[in-house]
Amino acid sequence: MSDERNQRHNSRMARKKEVVDAKIAQASQERGVLLVHTGNGKGKSSAAFGVLARALGHGHSAAVIQLVKSRSDTGEEGFFRQQPNVKWHVMGEGFTWETQDREKDLRAARAAWEQACVYLADPAIDLVILDELTYAFKYGWLELDAVLAAFAARPPHQHVIVTGRAAPEALVAAADTVTEMGMVKHAFQAGVAAMPGIEF
Ligand code: ATP
Ligand code: MG
Repeated sequence: MSDERNQRHNSRMARKKEVVDAKIAQASQERGVLLVHTGNGKGKSSAAFGVLARALGHGHSAAVIQLVKSRSDTGEEGFFRQQPNVKWHVMGEGFTWETQDREKDLRAARAAWEQACVYLADPAIDLVILDELTYAFKYGWLELDAVLAAFAARPPHQHVIVTGRAAPEALVAAADTVTEMGMVKHAFQAGVAAMPGIEF
Protein backbone atom coordinates (compact mmCIF):
# COMPACT_ATOMS: atom_id res chain seq x y z
CA MET A 1 0.00 0.00 0.00
CA SER A 2 2.61 2.50 1.05
CA ASP A 3 4.94 1.27 -1.74
CA GLU A 4 2.15 1.91 -4.24
CA ARG A 5 1.57 5.37 -2.81
CA ASN A 6 5.28 6.16 -2.97
CA GLN A 7 5.43 5.03 -6.59
CA ARG A 8 2.38 7.09 -7.54
CA HIS A 9 3.90 10.11 -5.86
CA ASN A 10 7.28 9.63 -7.56
CA SER A 11 5.83 9.32 -11.04
CA ARG A 12 3.58 12.36 -10.44
CA MET A 13 6.66 14.33 -9.35
CA ALA A 14 8.57 13.20 -12.45
CA ARG A 15 5.75 14.57 -14.67
CA LYS A 16 5.60 17.74 -12.60
CA LYS A 17 9.36 18.23 -12.95
CA GLU A 18 9.05 18.12 -16.75
CA VAL A 19 6.40 20.84 -16.66
CA VAL A 20 8.34 23.01 -14.20
CA ASP A 21 11.62 22.58 -16.09
CA ALA A 22 9.94 23.61 -19.36
CA LYS A 23 8.56 26.76 -17.70
CA ILE A 24 11.96 27.59 -16.19
CA ALA A 25 13.60 27.18 -19.61
CA GLN A 26 11.08 29.69 -21.05
CA ALA A 27 11.83 32.33 -18.40
CA SER A 28 15.15 33.38 -19.86
CA GLN A 29 14.98 37.19 -19.64
CA GLU A 30 17.14 38.97 -17.10
CA ARG A 31 16.02 42.51 -16.34
CA GLY A 32 14.76 44.81 -13.67
CA VAL A 33 11.18 44.24 -12.56
CA LEU A 34 8.47 46.50 -11.20
CA LEU A 35 6.68 45.03 -8.20
CA VAL A 36 3.50 46.32 -6.62
CA HIS A 37 2.35 45.29 -3.14
CA THR A 38 -1.22 46.41 -2.65
CA GLY A 39 -4.44 45.40 -0.87
CA ASN A 40 -5.94 46.01 2.56
CA GLY A 41 -4.09 43.29 4.46
CA LYS A 42 -0.94 43.76 6.48
CA GLY A 43 2.38 42.93 4.84
CA LYS A 44 2.92 45.35 1.95
CA SER A 45 5.77 47.43 3.36
CA SER A 46 7.28 44.64 5.42
CA ALA A 47 7.41 42.37 2.34
CA ALA A 48 9.27 45.14 0.51
CA PHE A 49 11.79 45.29 3.36
CA GLY A 50 12.16 41.54 3.15
CA VAL A 51 13.13 41.94 -0.50
CA LEU A 52 15.53 44.71 0.56
CA ALA A 53 17.31 42.28 2.91
CA ARG A 54 17.46 39.73 0.11
CA ALA A 55 18.96 42.24 -2.35
CA LEU A 56 21.54 43.45 0.19
CA GLY A 57 22.57 39.85 0.74
CA HIS A 58 23.62 39.83 -2.89
CA GLY A 59 25.68 42.99 -2.40
CA HIS A 60 23.13 45.17 -4.23
CA SER A 61 22.60 48.88 -3.54
CA ALA A 62 19.16 50.18 -2.66
CA ALA A 63 17.22 53.35 -1.97
CA VAL A 64 14.07 53.56 0.13
CA ILE A 65 11.72 56.52 0.01
CA GLN A 66 8.80 56.57 2.38
CA LEU A 67 5.89 58.79 1.46
CA VAL A 68 3.11 59.67 3.93
CA LYS A 69 5.01 58.11 6.83
CA SER A 70 6.84 60.63 8.98
CA ARG A 71 8.13 58.55 11.86
CA SER A 72 11.83 57.82 11.96
CA ASP A 73 11.83 55.38 14.85
CA THR A 74 10.78 52.27 12.94
CA GLY A 75 12.66 49.03 13.38
CA GLU A 76 13.27 48.79 9.65
CA GLU A 77 14.88 52.23 9.50
CA GLY A 78 16.99 51.51 12.60
CA PHE A 79 18.20 48.29 11.06
CA PHE A 80 18.69 49.26 7.41
CA ARG A 81 20.36 52.59 8.15
CA GLN A 82 23.25 50.56 9.54
CA GLN A 83 23.73 48.98 6.14
CA PRO A 84 26.27 50.76 3.94
CA ASN A 85 24.43 50.05 0.67
CA VAL A 86 21.11 51.62 1.67
CA LYS A 87 19.90 55.21 1.26
CA TRP A 88 16.87 55.84 3.45
CA HIS A 89 14.52 58.82 3.17
CA VAL A 90 11.44 59.40 5.30
CA MET A 91 9.65 62.10 3.33
CA GLY A 92 6.04 62.10 4.49
CA GLU A 93 4.25 64.51 6.76
CA GLY A 94 2.17 61.85 8.49
CA PHE A 95 -1.26 60.37 7.80
CA THR A 96 -3.56 62.65 5.78
CA TRP A 97 -6.12 62.62 8.60
CA GLU A 98 -3.40 63.85 10.96
CA THR A 99 -1.94 66.62 8.77
CA GLN A 100 -5.35 67.81 7.50
CA ASP A 101 -3.34 70.00 5.15
CA ARG A 102 -3.46 68.99 1.49
CA GLU A 103 -0.94 71.67 0.38
CA LYS A 104 1.62 70.36 2.85
CA ASP A 105 0.99 66.72 1.87
CA LEU A 106 1.31 67.65 -1.79
CA ARG A 107 4.62 69.47 -1.25
CA ALA A 108 6.00 66.50 0.69
CA ALA A 109 4.96 64.06 -2.03
CA ARG A 110 6.52 66.18 -4.77
CA ALA A 111 9.78 66.45 -2.83
CA ALA A 112 9.75 62.69 -2.31
CA TRP A 113 9.17 62.12 -6.01
CA GLU A 114 12.06 64.46 -6.92
CA GLN A 115 14.32 62.37 -4.70
CA ALA A 116 12.93 59.19 -6.25
CA CYS A 117 13.75 60.52 -9.73
CA VAL A 118 17.41 60.88 -8.74
CA TYR A 119 17.57 57.17 -7.89
CA LEU A 120 15.46 56.10 -10.86
CA ALA A 121 18.09 57.70 -13.10
CA ASP A 122 21.07 56.20 -11.24
CA PRO A 123 22.39 52.91 -12.62
CA ALA A 124 24.38 52.36 -9.40
CA ILE A 125 21.09 51.79 -7.54
CA ASP A 126 19.81 48.23 -8.03
CA LEU A 127 16.57 48.50 -6.07
CA VAL A 128 14.27 51.45 -5.41
CA ILE A 129 11.48 51.06 -2.85
CA LEU A 130 8.73 53.66 -3.00
CA ASP A 131 6.81 52.91 0.16
CA GLU A 132 3.18 54.10 0.24
CA LEU A 133 3.46 55.69 -3.22
CA THR A 134 -0.08 54.69 -4.22
CA TYR A 135 -1.57 57.39 -1.96
CA ALA A 136 0.04 60.03 -4.17
CA PHE A 137 -2.34 58.97 -6.96
CA LYS A 138 -5.36 58.60 -4.73
CA TYR A 139 -4.98 62.17 -3.45
CA GLY A 140 -3.78 63.66 -6.74
CA TRP A 141 -0.32 64.65 -5.46
CA LEU A 142 1.50 63.12 -8.44
CA GLU A 143 0.68 62.46 -12.09
CA LEU A 144 0.54 58.71 -12.64
CA ASP A 145 1.62 59.06 -16.30
CA ALA A 146 4.79 60.93 -15.33
CA VAL A 147 5.62 58.33 -12.69
CA LEU A 148 5.08 55.46 -15.15
CA ALA A 149 7.26 57.24 -17.71
CA ALA A 150 10.09 57.54 -15.17
CA PHE A 151 9.72 53.84 -14.31
CA ALA A 152 9.89 52.94 -18.00
CA ALA A 153 13.03 55.05 -18.49
CA ARG A 154 14.93 53.64 -15.48
CA PRO A 155 18.15 51.65 -15.92
CA PRO A 156 17.18 48.27 -17.40
CA HIS A 157 18.59 46.18 -14.52
CA GLN A 158 16.97 48.29 -11.76
CA HIS A 159 14.14 46.81 -9.68
CA VAL A 160 11.36 48.97 -8.24
CA ILE A 161 8.85 48.12 -5.52
CA VAL A 162 5.76 50.25 -4.96
CA THR A 163 3.61 49.67 -1.89
CA GLY A 164 0.27 51.01 -0.75
CA ARG A 165 -3.44 50.29 -0.84
CA ALA A 166 -5.61 50.68 -3.92
CA ALA A 167 -2.94 50.58 -6.61
CA PRO A 168 -4.38 52.28 -9.73
CA GLU A 169 -5.14 50.05 -12.73
CA ALA A 170 -2.49 51.60 -14.96
CA LEU A 171 0.18 50.94 -12.34
CA VAL A 172 -0.94 47.33 -12.04
CA ALA A 173 -0.86 47.05 -15.83
CA ALA A 174 2.67 48.47 -16.00
CA ALA A 175 4.00 46.23 -13.19
CA ASP A 176 5.63 42.86 -13.72
CA THR A 177 4.63 41.31 -10.40
CA VAL A 178 1.62 42.41 -8.39
CA THR A 179 0.62 40.98 -5.03
CA GLU A 180 -2.59 41.85 -3.28
CA MET A 181 -2.40 41.33 0.48
CA GLY A 182 -5.85 40.28 1.63
CA MET A 183 -7.08 41.13 5.11
CA VAL A 184 -8.29 38.02 6.88
CA LYS A 185 -8.00 39.51 10.37
CA HIS A 186 -5.80 42.04 12.14
CA ALA A 187 -4.96 42.21 15.84
CA PHE A 188 -5.89 45.92 15.86
CA GLN A 189 -9.54 44.95 15.39
CA ALA A 190 -9.34 43.00 18.63
CA GLY A 191 -7.94 46.02 20.45
CA VAL A 192 -4.22 45.25 20.25
CA ALA A 193 -2.08 48.39 19.94
CA ALA A 194 0.61 48.75 17.23
CA MET A 195 3.41 46.60 18.63
CA PRO A 196 7.07 47.57 18.07
CA GLY A 197 8.80 44.94 15.99
CA ILE A 198 5.53 43.85 14.38
CA GLU A 199 3.81 47.01 13.16
CA PHE A 200 6.74 49.42 13.03
P1 ATP B 1 3.36 46.50 7.24
O1 ATP B 1 4.17 47.76 7.29
O2 ATP B 1 3.18 45.91 8.61
O3 ATP B 1 3.83 45.52 6.22
P2 ATP B 1 1.36 47.41 5.40
O4 ATP B 1 2.43 48.13 4.70
O5 ATP B 1 0.67 46.30 4.69
O6 ATP B 1 1.87 46.91 6.82
P3 ATP B 1 -0.03 49.94 5.76
O7 ATP B 1 -1.35 50.18 5.12
O8 ATP B 1 1.17 50.62 5.20
O9 ATP B 1 0.18 48.37 5.87
O10 ATP B 1 -0.21 50.28 7.28
C1 ATP B 1 0.84 50.52 8.12
C2 ATP B 1 0.53 50.14 9.55
O11 ATP B 1 -0.84 49.78 9.74
C3 ATP B 1 1.30 48.92 10.00
O12 ATP B 1 1.60 49.14 11.35
C4 ATP B 1 0.35 47.79 9.82
O13 ATP B 1 0.59 46.69 10.65
C5 ATP B 1 -0.95 48.43 10.13
N1 ATP B 1 -2.01 47.78 9.35
C6 ATP B 1 -1.92 47.25 8.13
N2 ATP B 1 -3.08 46.71 7.72
C7 ATP B 1 -3.94 46.93 8.74
C8 ATP B 1 -5.33 46.62 8.97
N3 ATP B 1 -6.03 45.98 8.03
N4 ATP B 1 -5.90 47.01 10.13
C9 ATP B 1 -5.17 47.67 11.07
N5 ATP B 1 -3.87 48.00 10.92
C10 ATP B 1 -3.25 47.63 9.79
MG1 MG C 1 2.83 50.04 4.27
